[in-house]
Amino acid sequence: MIIIAGPCSIEGKNFIQIGLAVKAAGATHLRGGVFKPRSSPFRWSGLHEEALPLLEEARVVVGLPLVVEAMSPQQIELLYPYVDVFQVGARNSTNTELLKEFGRQDKPVLYKRGMAQTIEEFVMGTDFILNEGNTNVIMCERGIRTFESYTRNTLDINCIPSVKELCSIPIIADPSHGTGRRSLVVPVACAAIAAGADGLMIEVHSDPDRALTDGSQSITPEIFASLVRRVKAIKEVL
Ligand code: PEP
Ligand code: MN
Repeated sequence: MIIIAGPCSIEGKNFIQIGLAVKAAGATHLRGGVFKPRSSPFRWSGLHEEALPLLEEARVVVGLPLVVEAMSPQQIELLYPYVDVFQVGARNSTNTELLKEFGRQDKPVLYKRGMAQTIEEFVMGTDFILNEGNTNVIMCERGIRTFESYTRNTLDINCIPSVKELCSIPIIADPSHGTGRRSLVVPVACAAIAAGADGLMIEVHSDPDRALTDGSQSITPEIFASLVRRVKAIKEVL
């Protein structure tokens, strides 16, 4: 089971502390945003180049493979030496020229579902990467936009077994963005694993209320540790 965990954004030295904590709890990969897609250009959008030394330090000190989003060919080039898996964010899932650029890379790609992408479009989107020669693709259901407003997005459980019917690409779930609410992350993670997901992406922060992005959906390392125990138990039962 792939378990990608870490802060929404790399904010500073606490990235290392969070990395060590999620590794101890059972994470297989460490995530952290360097360039954050935001709804307004006036909001903080990550440390950008300043995060690169922290990625390098995390590689040595934490030792987990790093998953980082890139939003342009320039960002792919800048991040390439530091990153083990490139993330394609929901806002770029239908940017076919960018998908082709990820297809020309020799590193795995985590392809997140667009917020208005049907399941079939989501599966077809992977072809833009595969067709350029990169066959190391992992899909990620991260919730879609619906009329529901209690949650930030609606994590589409249907998507997980549907993707299993339509192709042989591994699919993981992101209940952090899929719910937008800290209290819902653990139960929805359990549901995704029960539905056949090959893994999870979870936002974890040492002090979620002070996180610079996505604090409301971030869980503490302690809660993350209990999440890992639960999903492993579910996987075993299945
Ligand atoms: C993220 O992983 O922090 C992120 C921005 O995800 P998404 O593209 O799914 O919104
Ligand atoms: Mn986030």
